[in-house]
Amino acid sequence: MEIAFSVLDDQIARFRLDKSSIAFANSLRRAMIGEVPTMAIEDVKIYDNTSALFDEMLAHRIGLIPIKTEEECLIPRDTCSCGGIGCPSCSVLFTLSVEGPGMVTSKDLISQDPRIGPASPDIPVVKLIGGQKVVLEARAIVSRGREHAKWQPTTACGYKNYPVVTVNDRCDACGHCVEECPREILEIRDGRVAVIEGRLESCSLCRLCERACLNTGIGEEAGIIVRSDESRFLFVVEGDGSLPAKNIIRQGLDYIRTQSQGLAAQIYEISGETRDEND
Ligand code: SF4
Ligand code: SF4
Ligand SMILES: [Zn+2]
Repeated sequence: MEIAFSVLDDQIARFRLDKSSIAFANSLRRAMIGEVPTMAIEDVKIYDNTSALFDEMLAHRIGLIPIKTEEECLIPRDTCSCGGIGCPSCSVLFTLSVEGPGMVTSKDLISQDPRIGPASPDIPVVKLIGGQKVVLEARAIVSRGREHAKWQPTTACGYKNYPVVTVNDRCDACGHCVEECPREILEIRDGRVAVIEGRLESCSLCRLCERACLNTGIGEEAGIIVRSDESRFLFVVEGDGSLPAKNIIRQGLDYIRTQSQGLAAQIYEISGETRDEND
């Protein structure tokens, strides 16, 4: 298996996964969405709320604000030495006190730990008119996306099969498929249709080009054939700001490795076979 990145920064990663399978690609997608620990606000104590939003709605909106975290701060409450009661190692306290008029935004959440805070300062929470007030305390804890979407580190995380476009001798360069392609990846070159250099990965596998070709009356088989490579995948991973994209990928892969090793160990134990060091 090989991974080749075309984009990698804190917010987004695009990469090609080679020599793999659909099962593994989907496991990686699910691990990145649901199994990477992140921090999100879980408990909210409201001392004063005279805004237009009910307390529950206010707490819900605050819970969905992505919280930027250093990886070493991510200790799940159930594995912490405090035994799950909640302490500075496994949770962080925020305070918020705003009086109208004005917009309450994520930057008004003041963290007690300088390493942890809202991923973006401009997320609107509620608009206050003159005389309205919101005062609250919020506690963020570590968990995973499979428990609730607020702990998902990704806003977009998916893959598509790698496209394979072939052109055969039936092509007479009429250009109908070029006009039909919604991603504008085809051109006429050297008396045939061809993929514009560097544009292949933009193909959505919609196969409108094949249909356009068949509609010209070419016969049973189109001059252009689009198929997907079952062992190559194009991934896009967009983070919500809580963790850098590369950490999301690394932790997703780590999760798969740990789970596979645990499963292998159990199988060896049940079967009574001796485990090879390299397994
Ligand atoms: S593949 Fe078909 S539609 Fe496209 S240029 Fe060739 S003959 Fe025309
Ligand atoms: S499958 Fe769709 S996107 Fe790909 S070349 Fe054909 S028309 Fe264009
Ligand atoms: Zn603790």
